[in-house]
Amino acid sequence: MAKKYTYPTYVRVVEWVGMLAFGSLYAFIAWRLGEALWEQNRDHMWWMLSILPLLGLISADFISGTFHFLADNFGDEEMWFWGQAFVRPFREHHVDPQAICRHDFVERNGNLALALLPLISPLLLLPYRTTLWGQVVTVYALFFLVAMVMTQTIHSWAHMDDPPRLIRKLQDWHLVLPRDHHHCHHTPPYREAYCITVGWLNPLLDRSSFWQHAEVWVAHYMPWLAHPAAEQAAREAAQRAINSAAAINHVPSEDSPA
Ligand SMILES: [Zn+2]
Ligand SMILES: [Zn+2]
Repeated sequence: MAKKYTYPTYVRVVEWVGMLAFGSLYAFIAWRLGEALWEQNRDHMWWMLSILPLLGLISADFISGTFHFLADNFGDEEMWFWGQAFVRPFREHHVDPQAICRHDFVERNGNLALALLPLISPLLLLPYRTTLWGQVVTVYALFFLVAMVMTQTIHSWAHMDDPPRLIRKLQDWHLVLPRDHHHCHHTPPYREAYCITVGWLNPLLDRSSFWQHAEVWVAHYMPWLAHPAAEQAAREAAQRAINSAAAINHVPSEDSPA
């Protein structure tokens, strides 16, 4: 049978291990949490299951935007781990946006599942079988994690020419990343709409120039991640900010003419 992937088999094996480990841990925790919640705090379930999924989606949207912004703008493919795990897929995606639709489930989600193992494992230590606060944190975390692990799949739906009907409905209702909304990111100047889970935060982050400020911040505090183009852009942005601040706060010095 022909291989469905074009990268080394050991990477494929690691992706499978990541997915199986993440899936088993997720199912184990969700089952035990559901049991405990039903027995002890059934009255609290209505607000937990209405507020916490929203918080989980919003925070996953923000984290997806942050990683996407960093991978698009900082580092290069030669960097250890960061380069191969994040920079390469995102840069390739801008060269051939439709390629993501040709990846199968394992290729889209395997590396994400692996990267999320350090986040899901500590949930085992939380007292979600005995305390309400442990249950609140765990319900939130499970919604956040499922949104995160589904991000590249949701992103791929936004690139499909003809998505299945249910997916199209979810996109129309903006419960997952809509096609038109994501299209903004693939048109010049390619510096908007970085959030790719639901995209709810994009209007706020774009209008407040959040990513432009973040670019200056990362170039300043994380110089090892910067590459020349990003450094140049960050320097120019910092200089513009200094110039406009100086123009607003200009106070004539003692030796300047009266
Ligand atoms: Zn991008
Ligand atoms: Zn895309």
